[in-house]
Amino acid sequence: MNWIKINETLDGQPKYRLKQINEAIFRNLISDWDEALNLPLALRQELKEKAPLTINAEMIDSRKGKTTKAVVTLDDGLVIETVLIKNADGRNTVCVSSQVGCALGCAFCATGKLGFKRNLAKGEIIDQVLLWARELKKRDEPEKVDNIVFMGMGEPFLNYDNVMGAIRALNEKDGFGLGARHFAVSTAGIVEGIRKFTKENLEVNLAISLHAADDDVRQSLMPIAKNYPVKAIMSAVDEYIKKTNRRVMFEYVLIAKVNDNERDAEDLAKLMNKNPLYFVNLMTYNPAGKLKASSAQATEIFKNVLVKENVRFTERHSAGDEIEAACGQLAGKKAE
Ligand code: SF4
Repeated sequence: MNWIKINETLDGQPKYRLKQINEAIFRNLISDWDEALNLPLALRQELKEKAPLTINAEMIDSRKGKTTKAVVTLDDGLVIETVLIKNADGRNTVCVSSQVGCALGCAFCATGKLGFKRNLAKGEIIDQVLLWARELKKRDEPEKVDNIVFMGMGEPFLNYDNVMGAIRALNEKDGFGLGARHFAVSTAGIVEGIRKFTKENLEVNLAISLHAADDDVRQSLMPIAKNYPVKAIMSAVDEYIKKTNRRVMFEYVLIAKVNDNERDAEDLAKLMNKNPLYFVNLMTYNPAGKLKASSAQATEIFKNVLVKENVRFTERHSAGDEIEAACGQLAGKKAE
């Protein structure tokens, strides 16, 4: 959806047209301007020509049926991915991309291997949510999008304005109306971004891709960690907690012989026990290169340390790894 073109088309129209358009797009979830019966025919035709609502996507269902990936082709032919996850409690979480590719090159990530192509526009981020909202509405018993997480391709804080613009638009009461607490933004630890985010007056959740509590181990996995030591990230996170009083999730993907020994778990425990609002999301690694997932035994030992040290943690097994829709696997690949 091209907001610039929509706004240009509205030039000279009465002010209430924007409200009508928001209602048509976000409430009625139209996918063609012909369905916007609240707009005059001439305007519908102009919008159809200049700012079509079609989203060019190919859906790939996981065999377990809990995850659906969509490969979206953008107007310039570049490709991104977005994922719909059916949570255990029946809620629908949409994982969105914020960039085409990513410049950060984390060793465990398929997106990082693509390199950076470009930032997504606000409308391209919103489209990923609308795609799923339209799909869910079509079901025999219509469902809706309950949560939106910025954990797809790209580093959201390196496309800050468009990410925040999309969140604000989707949070708008008269439009899509998803409450701020139902959004989560995950960052590789861009400290300036965390600080800026803290100043937003929104109760949006923050997640940190941590993957190691020790700077050397972290740098071996995430080149960006050289610029942002753990200490600096934690100090920015603490400011966020002070301002919002919200819990912060630290993602930790267990990789064999890299970050999964007892010492790594102890370092993590020491760091996590500094604030009761920190919690860990322990993830199984979906191999996307030379690195391997931790063995069941190493995972058990790691978890035992966390339990012994009273670290608050949840475990995420990858739903969707068979369609490469799991964390760190989004690489814009279509079905074979
Ligand atoms: S894990 Fe995130 S920040 Fe790292 S390369 Fe992948 S998309 Fe970029």
